[in-house]
Amino acid sequence: MIPVHQPEIGDREVELVTQALRAGDVSGSGGQFIGEFERKFAAYCGVRHGVATSSGSTALHVAALLADIEPGDEVLVSACTNIASANAVVCAGGTVVAIDSEPDTWNMDVTLLRQAVTPRTRAIMPVHIYGHPVDMDAVLEVARAHGLFVIEDCAEAHGAEYRGRRVGSIGDVGCFSFYANKVITTGEGGMLVTDDQLLADRARSLRNLAFGQPRFLHREVGFNYRMTNVQAAIGVAQMERIDEIVERKRQVAAWYTARLRRLPELRLPVERDYAKNVYWMYGVVVDGDVSRDKLAAQLRLDGVDTRTMFCPLNWQPCLLDLDAVKPSQCHVAEYLWQQGLYLPSSATLTESEIDAICEAVGSALAVQRCA
Ligand SMILES: *Cc1c(COP(=O)(O)O)cnc(C)c1O
Repeated sequence: MIPVHQPEIGDREVELVTQALRAGDVSGSGGQFIGEFERKFAAYCGVRHGVATSSGSTALHVAALLADIEPGDEVLVSACTNIASANAVVCAGGTVVAIDSEPDTWNMDVTLLRQAVTPRTRAIMPVHIYGHPVDMDAVLEVARAHGLFVIEDCAEAHGAEYRGRRVGSIGDVGCFSFYANKVITTGEGGMLVTDDQLLADRARSLRNLAFGQPRFLHREVGFNYRMTNVQAAIGVAQMERIDEIVERKRQVAAWYTARLRRLPELRLPVERDYAKNVYWMYGVVVDGDVSRDKLAAQLRLDGVDTRTMFCPLNWQPCLLDLDAVKPSQCHVAEYLWQQGLYLPSSATLTESEIDAICEAVGSALAVQRCA
């Protein structure tokens, strides 16, 4: 079976992890690698501060706390996203307003933002889905007009660029995940990046139980969201190869597009003129009379793993049960959930593996066409 993703862990990761272990620096409270990873990753994004966390989810939770969301405050979030984007808003006490997707980039449709703003709107959370950046100028314009905080969810888009700027450097804060299947990994892990010293300081405090002065006097409820030095050691090693990983992801996508573009049933990923897409996952939308689920089932028999796209936030039972999402319709995002899937997208895939996958896709579609 060709998996949808396989992380690359090499000798350098083993070497630095061994160094962390031999030094005895195993926690999130000491050791050389946490600061080094934060500095290197923040510099990569083009911002001054990085705050490493235990996951992308916890980075997003800290970001939602930085937005000072009060109960009943609304946050405009891309409808098509991982549930973690919404959970952060809910954990901070806010209400999710799902913004429907663009049919080609699958990102939040920025033309819908202005009409979604109410007196309760506090923040916007654009999600750079599958590695394609959101149209951030339009997001920032609405944010400035209404005084909204902007949290970029960059969990799928390390290295993606919007008009030449890396994602994470454009909003007030950017949040990344280093889960095993992300562009680079620390096993589990995340990072909040920002140019704002005060936001960075507050994020560091919230990540570390909000220790006070004196130490055990806490003036605000914080969390233990620390990344360990052992995980950060993996991160430092991954930073040495991030450019190469991103270029190979783009190569994998180019191989797919060259082979799949003539199949009339498939809509392939795009790259808008303002964008550098890192193609975290190579998504396709199965249009017309063929069944996405039959295609996925046949590919599984052929040894090719796939995943469906995300269930939109306006349809998530956990949010609906809590009244934590404003009722709305998101026709495009709903369609993506029903008709979208992504193909194996590891940076390690070879051109001949892509050949085999595309042949399997082509023949599975041909069978359905003739049926
Ligand atoms: C993976 C992901 C997250 C959550 O990151 P974790 O490290 O798994 O907690 C958040 N948002 C998006 C868009 C993701 O893909």
